[in-house]
This record gives sequence, structure tokens and C-alpha cells, in this order.
Amino acid sequence: MLVVMKNTASSDQIHAVVEVIKDMGYDARPIPGGQRTAIGIIGNDGGVDAGRVQGLEGVLEVIPVTHPYKQVSREWKADDTVVRLENGTVFGGSDVAIIAGPCAVESEAQIIGIAHDLKAMGATVLRGGAFKPRSSPYSFHGLGKEGLVLLAKARQETGLAVVTEALDPDGADLVAEYADIVQIGARNMQNYALLRRAGRTGKPVLLKRGMSATIEEFLLAAEYVLAEGNPNVILCERGVRSFDTHTRNVLDLAAIPVVKGLSHLPIIADPSHGTGLRAKVIPMGRAAVAAGADGLIIEVHPDPTRAMSDGAQSLYPEQFQELMDQIKVIARAIGRDIAEPLSAVAAG
Ligand code: PEP
Ligand code: MN
Repeated sequence: MLVVMKNTASSDQIHAVVEVIKDMGYDARPIPGGQRTAIGIIGNDGGVDAGRVQGLEGVLEVIPVTHPYKQVSREWKADDTVVRLENGTVFGGSDVAIIAGPCAVESEAQIIGIAHDLKAMGATVLRGGAFKPRSSPYSFHGLGKEGLVLLAKARQETGLAVVTEALDPDGADLVAEYADIVQIGARNMQNYALLRRAGRTGKPVLLKRGMSATIEEFLLAAEYVLAEGNPNVILCERGVRSFDTHTRNVLDLAAIPVVKGLSHLPIIADPSHGTGLRAKVIPMGRAAVAAGADGLIIEVHPDPTRAMSDGAQSLYPEQFQELMDQIKVIARAIGRDIAEPLSAVAAG
């Protein structure tokens, strides 16, 4: 942390600030400049409470220079974290990994059928909510454990890995028994008991950005998982709330390069929840790959008009094929590839 003094600050005032910093248990290093003096605080392992210094006479501003998160930061670990699934899918490597599937698991025929289609089109991870967080208590909340069993069956038949959401700590343990990745949704990004328990399952965690979370809060949420000894977190930008009503959320694509600068964790994008509109999913999916996303998560339904949740933003299977064809070209233009379909992974 750096304390910037006013240009009118007296040497007594500078001295007083130095004494308070020492009293807080840190070292203070005054850096005299042409216009003003700045005082560096050193010896702090993490954040310093700026409150005691901020109000002192002669202080202009206090600038934090270290982040409140540690293990998720690039300073902690310079190399990209690579999250590997048992079926060969990799998040955070040179390839872009594709997760696709319906918003919710609705029936055996629906999930098994779409899983085969998605595999044929190049997805390597199947999504589908068994426990759905819905804005209304009267909406469809998922098939529960039966949905997990169906996802496991789809994995067995297709070789696709499976990601599904856990809504509470006990749910995280249950989801971890069936899924390859435990998803923590936007509404639960700051559910710290859930983050800790998901971390302790040892399974990779897909952490979605809260709908009004800053990037710092997002990274601090990931820190909870890493603090439990689980380094395998995949971040997901899924749009944030804004004043405009044309799309469901505003997909914050700038968050992708920003997070990549601050953190070593892989980050993927969810243009389905990010836009809420089927016609906007393909362009924003393309843009996310161009922005450097390590993957996409896309809602695809065999018959979106009959979907029990999020039909309006779910792609028809043929639209998913179109997206796959287009992002292949974009990935190559930036020196990446879309992750190989599973048969090729197994053969290679
Ligand atoms: C989802 O992926 O099904 C979901 C509910 O997304 P979010 O948590 O981003 O709203
Ligand atoms: Mn959904």
C-alpha cells in the first residue's frame, strides 16, 4: 500500500504517518518526490486496513498496490493453471474447450439424445442442471438426484464429461459423486459455505461470476476454493446486471483479458445467460473466443420451444453446429484450436 501525502504536508505530518504505520506492525518507507512525498508500507502479507492512515493530517490518498486475494493471483503463480478432466478435456491450455447442453435435465430421452448430438458436433463436456436455482419458487427446479443419474448415464454412453450445479454444501458432495465438474452458479458466487465445501470435494469447480460481482469479488470467491487446497477452478463470465433491457445481462467480455492479467486460472464465457437471446448467442460466442476465452458454455436444446427453462436462449442443435464451425476459424486466427472431439483425443 502506498500513502500519498498532500504537497503541503509538513515533515511532522509525514513523521506521524510513519509512526502509525509502525504501530500497525509494518515498516514505512518515505519516498520523497519533487511535488510530494509518498510512503510505502512494507512487510504486510496481504491487505492492510487503510482506515487508520486515511484520516491522518496531510494524507491525500491511500493506494492499494497488493490485491486482497493471494493464491488466485498471477503474482502467486505466474504460469496458467490447466484444469484436466478424465476424458481428456483441458481448460486453460492452448485449446478452447466447449461445454454444451440444455439448461436443465428434463428426461432421459432429452439428455441422452442431445448428448449424442453434441458429441458428434465436437463438444467434450455436457451441461445440464439437475438442481436449478430459479427466480420464482413456482418454476421447474430440476429433477434432483434423478437428473444426476441421467447425466452419469449420458457420460457413460458418450464419453462426454459432465458439469452440473450444486446449490448448497450437501448438494456439492452429491454432485461431486456424479459429475466431473461441480458448478457454482451466479446466485451462489458468494455462498462461502458452498465454495468451501465444493473446494473440499476435490473435483474441478466451475465458478460463475455473480450478476453484480466486481472482478475482485469474483477472484476472492475463487480464492475460497483454492484456500481449501483445490487448485482446479474454471472461472466463467456470464454477464452482469446493467440498466439496459435489450439483453438479459451484459456479457462483460473485457473481464476475460482483465482476469487473465490478474489470475492464472482459466476463464470461459457463457453467452447464453450473458445475452438471454438465442439470436445473440452465436455472435457473442464468437467474440468471447476472439477475446481469449479458454472455453464456452452453451445452452442447446433439442426443441427449445418446449424447454422447461431458458428456452429463449437455447440454441437449436444446427445453430450449435454453426457456432462450432465459426469459432474454429476464430480460434485459429489467434493461434488456438477448438479442443478435438473425444474420439480424436482418445486416438491421440
Ligand atoms: C446455469 O448455468 O444453468 C445457470 C443457472 O447460470 P447462472 O448461474 O450463470 O445464472
Ligand atoms: Mn439456464
